[in-house]
Amino acid sequence: MKPSVLRSIICSLALLFTCASASHAADAPKKILLVTVTKGFRHSSIPTATKVIMELGEKSKAFTVDLAATDADLLAKTTPEKLKTYDGFIFANTTLDLPLADKQAFLDAIKGGKGFAGMHSASDTFHGKDGKVDPYIEMLGGEFKTHGAQVGVECLVQDNKHPAVKHFGEAYCIEKEEIYLLINYDRTKVRDLLTLDKHPNKKSEAGHFPIAWCKDYGTGKVFYTSLGHREDVWENKAYQEHILNGIKWSLGLIPGESAPLKK
Ligand SMILES: [Zn+2]
Repeated sequence: MKPSVLRSIICSLALLFTCASASHAADAPKKILLVTVTKGFRHSSIPTATKVIMELGEKSKAFTVDLAATDADLLAKTTPEKLKTYDGFIFANTTLDLPLADKQAFLDAIKGGKGFAGMHSASDTFHGKDGKVDPYIEMLGGEFKTHGAQVGVECLVQDNKHPAVKHFGEAYCIEKEEIYLLINYDRTKVRDLLTLDKHPNKKSEAGHFPIAWCKDYGTGKVFYTSLGHREDVWENKAYQEHILNGIKWSLGLIPGESAPLKK
């Protein structure tokens, strides 16, 4: 082999390895803390939710999941020092006052650029007291108030470019689910992704009923979907794409607008 040919092969290989290692660093999976702790109602779908989120992380290679399933886990994993080791947080069907080691540090971490994704009763978590809205609810953008009987609904897609909902097309029709009615939600402060145009249980009552949205929180990104009560919802492929892309969006891995649609 001529020296020039050998040199060219070595150069190509060097370039290949440099590029491969550079892209590897950029594509390294993000680190997520998945919280499933409950201090109130405990959904029977939590084991399914945990399995689905872990599988989505593994299959997409977008994120690895560290689980906080108990009070002790959560306390240990949410100290200011530990919070720094995560790129984002998922609250899957959490309820009421969770024993975070440092709640303010947790909110500040999101405000400082980390991602947050919440499903279903993530909005039935940290309710305000004495008429005050809890800072967690301000971060999330809405708070669970009540729900009626499980029903079928047509969730209308509000942003057909957003990665968390664009695969639905015009609407996501869900056969049976527990649909939340929310308070402390302001459509001028979040970007609606899925909404109902009628009351889920009183179909003759027209209105604006939020189902899923995204928003900024400082430099952090927040995604919330109120869907996720039932096991079969978590097992639905369209729902899985909804939350996978919501999570990826919150981590800054894929683009999507977060400005409110209505000023
Ligand atoms: Zn529920």
